[in-house]
Amino acid sequence: MHPERPRSDFANAEVLLWQTGYRLGLAVAAGLIAVGLRVLGSLELSPVATAVVGARAADWLPGLVTVGYVLLVVGIRQWVARTRRAGHTLATLMVVADLAIVFWLVFLLAPPPNYDIGLFAALISLQLTHVYFGRSPALLMLGAMSATYLLLNDIAAGAGGEVVWGRVWVRLVVFGIGGLLVTRVQSNLHERLGRLVGIFQRAEEGDFSESYDVGADARPDAITSVGRAYNRMRTQLATIVLTDPLSGCFNRRGFEQQYRRELARAARTHTDLALIALDLDHFKRINDSYGHLVGDQVIAEAGELLRANARAEDVVARTGGEEFMVLAPNTNQEGARLLATRIVEAFRRRTFAEPRAKVSVTVSAGIVSDSVPDDGIAEDLRARADEALYAAKRGGRDRVVEWATMLGAGRRVKDAASPRT
Ligand code: GH3
Ligand code: MG
Ligand code: MG
Repeated sequence: MHPERPRSDFANAEVLLWQTGYRLGLAVAAGLIAVGLRVLGSLELSPVATAVVGARAADWLPGLVTVGYVLLVVGIRQWVARTRRAGHTLATLMVVADLAIVFWLVFLLAPPPNYDIGLFAALISLQLTHVYFGRSPALLMLGAMSATYLLLNDIAAGAGGEVVWGRVWVRLVVFGIGGLLVTRVQSNLHERLGRLVGIFQRAEEGDFSESYDVGADARPDAITSVGRAYNRMRTQLATIVLTDPLSGCFNRRGFEQQYRRELARAARTHTDLALIALDLDHFKRINDSYGHLVGDQVIAEAGELLRANARAEDVVARTGGEEFMVLAPNTNQEGARLLATRIVEAFRRRTFAEPRAKVSVTVSAGIVSDSVPDDGIAEDLRARADEALYAAKRGGRDRVVEWATMLGAGRRVKDAASPRT
């Protein structure tokens, strides 16, 4: 929706389709009124038009022009409905047709001093053009309207019509300034709406990092209010969309977002990134022995415990039922091992779901730490952490296993902390 960004042919097609309804309605109404008044004898043809095209032609031309316009619009509508595409040519053709019918009817029906009716009628089309096709086509149209107005007056003057050039120019200048002002205001609205649309689109993907810059709006209006309301909702929305309500940790979507961000940062700053995959041990037994409610309570407390043991810059996420992931930026193998060991030991020391029950649960951890050449490593890093976790499970649970890349060929895992050390 940015004013200078060309809309896609598809979007143009949608706009043209609904606009043709208004165009047909207006053209048919204007044509019927003109022909009706003419039949009733209460509509004088312009003497200039009569002189230029002849009395007979001037009589049937308004009807013919209207029918021609209606046929053109219907043709364009059919074409667009079938192809669902409308390039610049079609949009331009539509605008030219708008100007042509407005100024033709004015020329045929109005005396030269009233030609400015054409300018004001064409303003409707200018407005439609600007709102949906942007500033450049609108400015072009403004130029075309002015040129056509001058041309009509020139033809009228040549045919002996009453044309006072001073008045023509004053009207044109007033109209031009008004048109430019309207265009400028519209552009500003467009640009700000475009910013809002961009922010909303990002929010749709779960990215709430950007707020609406209320301070940049020189004159606060309804758009500013929408921006302000979004800013107020932003934190709440981010919490709802990105957090797991049970454990209070990031959910999978939140993790993905943080992971992408941290991968990019690690690649930029040439620092290591560590992943710790965690899975509570024999959790089925807890559910079976104490019931699901207690199981839920354990998961909630496990989330709290993980967050308490992680650093502020670490990302703790619940990525599955009783599975968690800790993403530790700027952390090498050694640091990751210390963190994971601290977590595993914290689980050993704790009991959960008190006072309802007194549950002991251990956790297995698989860790990996590596430098990040680019974000293409994302899946590989995660797979290595999972692989190390499975090795921890196979090795007897309640332990940390690190995926070591430095142990010669092949994918080998190394026990980093034996249980109950
Ligand atoms: P291990 O991981 O040590 O191999 O054994 P496990 O018993 O934990 O095995 P597994 O990961 O296959 O099973 C996880 C169980 O966790 C299955 C499911 O009943 C339970 N679970 C998953 N999500 C939730 C949850 O949100 N609430 C509760 N109460 N239980 C859950
Ligand atoms: Mg488990
Ligand atoms: Mg599991």
